[in-house]
Amino acid sequence: MFDVQTIRRDFPILAREVNGKPLVYLDNGASAQKPKVVIDAITRAYAEEYANVHRGLHTLSNIATEKYEAVRGTIARFLGAADEEEIVFTSGTTEGINLVAYGWAMPNLGPGDEIVLSVMEHHANIVPWHFLRERQGVVLKWVDVDAAGNLDPQAVLDAIGPKTKLVAVTQMSNVLGTVVDVAAIARGAREKGVPVLVDGSQAAVHMPVNVDEIGADFYAITGHKLYGPSGSGAIHIRKERMNEMRPFLGGGDMIREVHKDSVTYNAPPMKFEAGTPGIVQQIGLGVALDYMMGIGMADIAAHEQAITGYAMDRLGGLNWLQVQGRAEHRGAIFSFTLDGPAHAHDISTVLDKKGVAVRAGQHCAGPLMDHLGVAATCRASFAMYNTPEEVDKLVEALELCHELFA
Ligand code: PLP
Repeated sequence: MFDVQTIRRDFPILAREVNGKPLVYLDNGASAQKPKVVIDAITRAYAEEYANVHRGLHTLSNIATEKYEAVRGTIARFLGAADEEEIVFTSGTTEGINLVAYGWAMPNLGPGDEIVLSVMEHHANIVPWHFLRERQGVVLKWVDVDAAGNLDPQAVLDAIGPKTKLVAVTQMSNVLGTVVDVAAIARGAREKGVPVLVDGSQAAVHMPVNVDEIGADFYAITGHKLYGPSGSGAIHIRKERMNEMRPFLGGGDMIREVHKDSVTYNAPPMKFEAGTPGIVQQIGLGVALDYMMGIGMADIAAHEQAITGYAMDRLGGLNWLQVQGRAEHRGAIFSFTLDGPAHAHDISTVLDKKGVAVRAGQHCAGPLMDHLGVAATCRASFAMYNTPEEVDKLVEALELCHELFA
């Protein structure tokens, strides 16, 4: 049974105060806090079981390798992937998408080829494609969201032309909370023979994900938002796409043989994992994903949907505050601006004095900010451990901002 108070006790940091007030942590979209099981696993990995992986024939290296490699299976289970060899370890979504840009797109796309993107992508799913625009003459085609922040899958499919070689979309906006029907996009794109990359950084935290059902070619996640360590993550890549990819980073582990005048590569997924990886980070991620699956992704989603509804009602009741985006399918990420002269940074500073942690700025989403016509927003993003009472504390603190700045 989902019990938010029990869950809160699993996260030591939630017991602390900030500026003399109980912490209300609503910056989960940037990075989530870590449960004690993850913190303990990290300590144990360093204190009792640490060595480099893959290379040694000694006990500690074998233990570390076993624990590290087991996480591939955990990630596959978490993502509903039938084949764990389709999981490539990365340091996070940014590296995952860059791997696709350098490893798959650069060798396969040329001048005039198109990549279709939504206007609400995070810079991690924009800038690597700008590299292809700058260096190889690839054309970026943008699909707008409507006034409520919905992204119509049909609009994405309509943007696909004969020169389109990739569709790259987020499953959940890190600014608007919009949840995108990426399965419909993947289905339609597949019929047109166009691969799809899904940025699952936000979605995978808040709802059950099944990459085999979604049917995209690439699905990227980032561990630190999934209650795991920073520097951990993965990307699911379909075998047929892996076979079309050249290596991204070169170094140890990703090779089979190296000579003065030749090199051969390891089989995927290791072909795409160069150098000493984030051993302990990935081990911590495995524990975090097991923790989430132990609670149950459906129960986490139901709890957060209740919070979403409550926060929407409370924030929607403040006539001096504008929530950006009211998409039909949305999760617990709210960006807002306040009437009056105060910058988002001023608002977040006042909220912090009340112990409420939110993010302020552009949220790595420049094109979306342009589309919305705002310079910056405040963003409150919720996690499995947040409560309706914390929504009330946010609203109380916002009312103080309104008094101060109106
Ligand atoms: N994509 C989305 C939607 C995000 O919210 C983020 C992180 O804020 C990223 C990509 C980048 O993730 P990371 O910085 O962990 O690589």
